[in-house]
This record gives sequence, structure tokens and C-alpha cells, in this order.
Amino acid sequence: MNKELKEAQKLIDFIYESPNAFYAVHSIKKILIENNFNELHEEDRWKLVKGGKYFVIKNHSAITAFVIGNGNVQEHGFKIIGAHTDSPGFRIKPFPEIKVENAYIKLNTEVYGGPIINTWLDRPLSVAGRVTIKSEDLMHPEIKLVNIKRPILIIPNLAIHMNKNVNSGVELNRQKDILPLLAMVNENLQKDNILLSTIAEELQVDVEEILDFDLFLYEFEKGSIMGLNNEFISCGRLDDLLMVHSGLMALIQSAETNCTKIIACFDNEEVGNTTKQGANSPMLSSILERIAFCMGLDLEDYLRSQSRSFMISCDLGHALHPNYIEKSDPVNKPIINKGPIIKSSASQSYTSDAVSSAVYESICQKAGIPVQRFVNRSDEKGGSTIGPASSSHLNIPSVDVGIAILAMHSIRELGGITDYLFSTKSFLEYYNLF
Ligand SMILES: [Zn+2]
Repeated sequence: MNKELKEAQKLIDFIYESPNAFYAVHSIKKILIENNFNELHEEDRWKLVKGGKYFVIKNHSAITAFVIGNGNVQEHGFKIIGAHTDSPGFRIKPFPEIKVENAYIKLNTEVYGGPIINTWLDRPLSVAGRVTIKSEDLMHPEIKLVNIKRPILIIPNLAIHMNKNVNSGVELNRQKDILPLLAMVNENLQKDNILLSTIAEELQVDVEEILDFDLFLYEFEKGSIMGLNNEFISCGRLDDLLMVHSGLMALIQSAETNCTKIIACFDNEEVGNTTKQGANSPMLSSILERIAFCMGLDLEDYLRSQSRSFMISCDLGHALHPNYIEKSDPVNKPIINKGPIIKSSASQSYTSDAVSSAVYESICQKAGIPVQRFVNRSDEKGGSTIGPASSSHLNIPSVDVGIAILAMHSIRELGGITDYLFSTKSFLEYYNLF
């Protein structure tokens, strides 16, 4: 396997170990600790030193890592990369088991974000997430992550014989049509709490000790490198874990600099960013303030530092689709493996403007990599991302970039290996700038 394929395989392994935001943070933390970053806690007083490497976790589902620069923060500012840890899918509801005709047991779920729902049908699925366990301290239940790591669920299609129009497109009702099948009823099966019993067994606790959970479904099968020339990555959650991994690799490989380098991985982008761990919150601005005050800045100097700072908001965009070329803008049609994209929009659903776009374009030029432009067709609204949300809390110029993929929000998205390597290279160039 050549070096490029090895890098892509590392990304696929990372995504496989990160079935949802909680596990993404767990995987990021592991990589940071291996690279000598120290964990800080929100409730402690922070003692930071120049050259120090740190990270802080919020809600077990968002994480910010940073390296304090050798220069003064007010003069050299912050160089920030932002991305998100969550992906669209299905969340398990409380008391989820539903018995059907005393024969089947299915689970009650709700949709998280905007998945392409029909791609989740007929796929072996598993369950992972966060569980809260009784503790002595009522205000602080014990938290455990659980990943069943077995294909235990499936959402079966209705046979074509029972729905002759299935190939003309089917509307799937979110409460009725897509509840996953868990098991057949049998005499040996515990009557209630089958899922919780499985989780309790996995965590080696009593079922009664489990207070609550944030559990999500995920596709059991691992992503793969594919294409005649091994040019593609077919994998779930490329949006946005590809960007998270790319930014993280750049941060840990970057050289010592005068500026303070940061990667902020927010949760809840897929449901609008407005949570305490989302981009539309004080999460990042509070960390910047704490860094500034720990490094001896006063408010005036902290505000000065923002004008010396820059943010690259990283999220995926849409490549030209070989079967739907009319869906792209007539001129700006990003192609897979032809370089990262700068996203802009008159509605300001992306933060890029002529100044911040020029900065990223120059970074790519310096790194010797091509860059492409993405705009929506003028009659399509398109999506948004973390950039505009976090920009409303920071007085820092920002650009929205990403790489272009196909099948965004499918259970398996399709991206390009060269693009992944290009984006990492551009972020490394950015972090190493000064
Ligand atoms: Zn995204």
C-alpha cells in the first residue's frame, strides 16, 4: 500500500472508531494524548505556557485543541480551524422497544439532522452512544460510552411485490416506515428493556443503575477505498469527520509558530448549531478569552488579538454529479480530486468574502495545490455550516472551505483521496504560516 492509501486508510479507521459525536471526541482525544497534548477541564483554573499543547472537551461531544504560540497573543493572534463532530442519522427514543404481533421487537427512533433516509434500509446497523449511570453525586451521574460493535438492527425494505411503485420513489414516514428490527420474541428473551439489558451487559452494570442514554444507530460495515485506480473513499460520516481528521493531522504535524493554533470541533451542526456545544454558542469565544487571560492579556489586548486572527471553517461541499450535471452551477462545478473548494453565497450562508477567500487561495498556492470554487445554482438554496454560526460570536475574519463529495448525507458518502490529502496540506501550510 503506498503512502497516500495508507493515509486514507487511517482516515477510514478513524471514522470507523467514531460512529457518532461522542466517539469522535473519544477518538480525537486518543490522537491528541498520543501527541503529548494535555487535557484541561472547564471547572479548573488553567495554567498555560508558551509552546504548551492542550485540549478541552465539552459535553463529551465537542472538543477544542490548541497549541500556545511562542509570540504574544495580541500581536500574533489565533489561527483557527473549525469543523463538526456530528453526522445525520437516527437517535433512539426513551423506552424504545415496540412489540409487533407478539413476534418481532423493533425500536422507536427519531431522525437526527437530514440523512438520505432510504440509504439506511437493508443495512446491518449497530448502536453506540453515551449512557448515564447512578452515582453518589446526584448532580454528576457517571458517564460511560458504549458501542455494541455487532450488527443488531436492520430497517427492512417493503418487497417490490407489495409496493409496485417502489422504483418511482417512495415517501418514508419517519414514525411508521423506518423503525429498525431488533429481535424476534422468544421465551428466553427478557420481557422488557432488551436494549438496556444488552447495554448493561456490555458495560458490566445492573440495568437499574442506568439512568438515561444518548444512543444513535450507525452502519456496521466499515468504509473502503475504491475505484479502478483506488481514487475514492466510500464511507459514512465523511461529513464532517474527514475535515476533523484533516485539521487534526495538520495541527499535530505543524511546526512551532508565533501564533496560537486551534482546532474547534463542534457538535450539533446537523441540527442548527444552537446548543452549548454547538458553533452558535460561547464555546469557542470562552476558550479564546481564557487563553488570552491566562497568557496575561487584558480585555483591550484580547480584543486586539481578534483582529490579528483568522478562522477556516471546514465542511464538505458538493461535487459535480456525473448523472446530474444540471444540478451544479453552470460555471463553478467542483470535481472530485481537483482540490479543496472555497464556498461562498450572497445570502452569507458561508462566511467567505473576497478578502478571506483570497487568503485561503494564496495559502493553497503556496502549498502548491489547486483550489476550486463552490456556489449553489442561483435557484437552489443549498445548506449552511458552522462558519456563520461561530462568526456571530467572534470578531474574526473567516472563510468557508471543504472538499467536494458526492451523495452528501447518504449512509455512505463518496469522496476523493487526493482531495483529503490536499486539504491536510493546505491546513498544514496555514498553521505553519507565522
Ligand atoms: Zn457538515
